[in-house]
Amino acid sequence: MIILSETARKDIEQHAAESFPHECVGLLIGRLEGQRKHVEAIYRAQNTWTAEVGLTSAEHEHSLADRFYLDPRDYMKADRAATAQGLDIVGCYHSHPDHPAIPSERDRVGAQGVGGGSSFSFLIQSVRSGLAAELTSWLLSEDGERFISEEIQF
Ligand SMILES: [Zn+2]
Repeated sequence: MIILSETARKDIEQHAAESFPHECVGLLIGRLEGQRKHVEAIYRAQNTWTAEVGLTSAEHEHSLADRFYLDPRDYMKADRAATAQGLDIVGCYHSHPDHPAIPSERDRVGAQGVGGGSSFSFLIQSVRSGLAAELTSWLLSEDGERFISEEIQF
């Protein structure tokens, strides 16, 4: 289960809406308590290749890019920011412009670079016509073969 603070939820929606019609990517910063992840803040990824290339959702769906959608430099910066606050990275998020909040095959391949298990969540924020729509959360199975839906609480 993942529990989002009001601030984190609003910040994800805002980032996704601002980036429309392109995707946005970021990291979730918070605390892991057993099976529960409490997200306190987000970290907007700056150096993402999606931003550089400006992928649309159609390209997102059809390209099986071999690069993961998180830049390692962003991950390191977010990790430092989290540690400074006594927190950890508990997941990542990205948006699906004009597309349902369901993971694509590319998402699964990308997520394999992070690894499976319940300690890291993959959030997807759908954006329709520039407005934040549904938000879903997913865990990658230990073998990396599939995503499992995760409950979100606010
Ligand atoms: Zn995706």
